Amino acid sequence: MALIVQKYGGTSVGSIERIQNVANKVAKWRADGHQLVVVVSAMSGVTNNLVDMAHKLQKEPSPREMDVLLATGEQTTIALLCMALENIGIPARSYTGSQVRILTDSAFTKARIVSIDDNHIRSDLAAGRVVVVAGFQGVDEDGNITTLGRGGSDTTGVALAAALKADECQIYTDVDGVYTTDPRVVPEARRLDRITFEEMLEMASLGSKVLQIRSVEFAGKYNVPLRVLSSFEEGPGTLIVSEETNTMMEKPVISGIAFTRDESKLSIRGVPDVPGVAFRVFGPISDANIEVDVIVQNVADNKANDITFTVQRKETDKAARILEQVMKDLGAKMVEVDNKVAKVSLVGVGMRSHAGIASKMFGALAAESINIQLITTSEIKISVVIEEKYLELAVRALHTAFGLKDPA
Ligand code: ASP
Ligand code: MG
Repeated sequence: MALIVQKYGGTSVGSIERIQNVANKVAKWRADGHQLVVVVSAMSGVTNNLVDMAHKLQKEPSPREMDVLLATGEQTTIALLCMALENIGIPARSYTGSQVRILTDSAFTKARIVSIDDNHIRSDLAAGRVVVVAGFQGVDEDGNITTLGRGGSDTTGVALAAALKADECQIYTDVDGVYTTDPRVVPEARRLDRITFEEMLEMASLGSKVLQIRSVEFAGKYNVPLRVLSSFEEGPGTLIVSEETNTMMEKPVISGIAFTRDESKLSIRGVPDVPGVAFRVFGPISDANIEVDVIVQNVADNKANDITFTVQRKETDKAARILEQVMKDLGAKMVEVDNKVAKVSLVGVGMRSHAGIASKMFGALAAESINIQLITTSEIKISVVIEEKYLELAVRALHTAFGLKDPA
């Protein structure tokens, strides 16, 4: 007998029939002798609808009221799922975040979980009940309803699994696992049986939207085995585990290729080569809350440097305006903006122990005559910034070059 936390996303509970389908799945796991805690999202579209309604009334609704509003989406689904379970003879009880007492800080709309009281859940499980918990929400010290940020039900699932020391946290969604890359770009992309937390984090922060990033961080921190699987088809999904747990398996050098399209590249040319310059460039950028990604500095001549970096495309104009000002202040030569770039990254923990990955990557891109504009590396990732129009070509070329089609 195992204790399993299952989380069903918005599409999985998107209609009454789908909620019944979830109830049947839960019943099957229970019939196999497992204890189940089920976390659900709002029915698909509901949270967006609530946000739209709020914005019809106010341009910037108060975050506290936003959370009271948005938490209703999940409250609907927990009650409906319990009814569907009762219908098929499964005793079940629903809990809002506050009823469980998922205690959070008071950062409305992006609260962090502080602690979880497992009393109610444990006694229900002991009484043979399925426990159904509203995802995405909690309560602060003063009893205010809070939410955990969009997509936050994943984090609720993982946090509950950690608190209950569950054997596994299963995230049911509309895809059947984590893929070597986006199948819309590479049709022969392959579902991964396993991936490590670290790799998953890199894939997720680079646009593979299967899991909320925070939930992966959380799972890694508390070492909660996490499985992503489809609520519509049978299958093993993808298991996300720590690297240590992963030692048994044959390890591929590269697990996947992640990419982001919506990048822009900015350069400030001819900045003086003296201490403090990078700070004067990036200080105002970070004060404006603009996230900077790849940064490269090169020596233009012996007294001046060029600094180049990337930001999300929607921040281009804001970043460019700031740079123009910095250019004047520093007496730099000019600012250049290119908003047609994309970033492609190879991700794999196997890189740590293998040489020659970067050169193989550059070779594969060269063979397609794709020019590399910027390069950055970390222990488990190599990223290149290229012209956006070559993105698909680059991803396909790398997928083939690293043999990601066939099991490694
Ligand atoms: N319903 C929330 C959202 O749409 C939370 C979630 O689905 O995870 O963001
Ligand atoms: Mg979701």
